[in-house]
Amino acid sequence: MKAIRRTRISDLLKSTAYGTEVNVRGWVRTRRSSKQVAFVALNDGSTISNVQIVIDVEKFDEDMLKLLTTGACLSVNGMLVESIGGGQSVEIQATEIEVLGECDNTYPLQKKGQTMEYMRTVAHLRPRTNTFGAVFRIRHNMAYAIHKFFHDKGFYYFHTPIITASDCEGAGQMFQVTTMNLYDLKKDEEGCIKYDSDFFGKQASLTVSGQLEGELAATALGAIYTFGPTFRAENSNTPRHLAEFWMIEPEVAFNDITDNMDLAEEFIKYCVQWALDHCMEDITFLNNMIDKGLIERLRSIVDTEFVRLAYTDGIKILEEAVAAGHKFEFPVYWGVDLASEHERYLVEHHFKRPVILTDYPKEIKAFYMKQNEDGKTVRAMDVLFPKIGEIIGGSEREADYGKLLARIEELGIPMKDMWWYLDTRRYGSCPHSGFGLGFERLLLFVTGMANIRDVIPFPRTPNNAEF
Ligand code: ATP
Ligand code: MN
Repeated sequence: MKAIRRTRISDLLKSTAYGTEVNVRGWVRTRRSSKQVAFVALNDGSTISNVQIVIDVEKFDEDMLKLLTTGACLSVNGMLVESIGGGQSVEIQATEIEVLGECDNTYPLQKKGQTMEYMRTVAHLRPRTNTFGAVFRIRHNMAYAIHKFFHDKGFYYFHTPIITASDCEGAGQMFQVTTMNLYDLKKDEEGCIKYDSDFFGKQASLTVSGQLEGELAATALGAIYTFGPTFRAENSNTPRHLAEFWMIEPEVAFNDITDNMDLAEEFIKYCVQWALDHCMEDITFLNNMIDKGLIERLRSIVDTEFVRLAYTDGIKILEEAVAAGHKFEFPVYWGVDLASEHERYLVEHHFKRPVILTDYPKEIKAFYMKQNEDGKTVRAMDVLFPKIGEIIGGSEREADYGKLLARIEELGIPMKDMWWYLDTRRYGSCPHSGFGLGFERLLLFVTGMANIRDVIPFPRTPNNAEF
């Protein structure tokens, strides 16, 4: 086969260099044939669009043509010509075809219109479908947008540890990390496991959040963000929870809760605008195939001001709804940790736009949040989104050493884990704030996908760690 430099299909489809010889490589999506011509739709992942390969059947070996099946990988040389049919602007008149990888009829992606549940059982191949190709291209673009947003604002990307020895992050159940022989655990008189011979000499786990270390960095570098994997062994089988997910956690010295809300709102709008500006082809596909309201919802987010509301006022609205006959599965009262149905009621029914709920009861929030004067609430802020519920959780942090220490003691958090964190308040403490955005929750919103298992390549959930 003649050596020609490969062109990506995304570039090819923009080209007007008709009559030039090109090489494309990719996987067969579909093939149609008549007596004289065969048409192969080839996709190389660079774009959701396929390029059409037109094959003059007489000019090619019959046995080779039989191998042009769905899923097969081809290298094609041919002439770039203007397309006469609808759809694409160009197509390729094949001169030489090499089958790089054959694909027989056991290929699991032969049939179109499979369920999402089925696609999860073939997660190793699903990136080759239109839907998952679109989702993972958008996932990449969102990661890029996030780094760009923070970099342009002068934030530093800070790497917090994935293995941690403090079990006080308080955000969820942790996975343990150990090299001990689980068949032969050493225990003390009380029956507690002895960790001194373990790898780290003490109990260690996978992180549930990089925030505490993020605060150390913010009180040195000024403004930082983390973007890494987080692990929560919560046994909740919901469409919005993963055991392994990616989180973005900005933390900023001298920001109060209002600055924090401003940052969160600007950040989400930037990401959504980025998707509209750079991923429209994929978003249009998802809008047509998965969620008809997607584009409209994305556009509406970037031009609406988010509602800012105190928890206490949110509870009042929910109680009024109950009094007026609205049925919730879970009870509503001051002090309750809001369920997703409550959050969605506020966002989707009451305000019809995103809501930032603030000043939650301290009992349902973490120890490090700044305490309000009322003695009952803390300066927390959750950003609630249509269809998702909580997409961001954040707060202004308690900067006062005495108050923080009192809260730590009140909750019985072991001091051996906390000394380094408390040092930020002991040495040059400053007001500061931050939040955590679940990357996959953002992707649910931007792609219109209904289940969080379908916006991460290889989901980890209770009873599932395949691939
Ligand atoms: P939720 O109430 O929805 O379980 P949370 O209050 O436990 O969330 P935070 O500890 O505030 O969550 O974490 C910050 C952000 O991380 C959340 O706003 C959400 O976007 C995301 N997040 C939390 N838990 C998960 C999870 N199990 N899977 C995916 N994303 C998550
Ligand atoms: Mn939260």
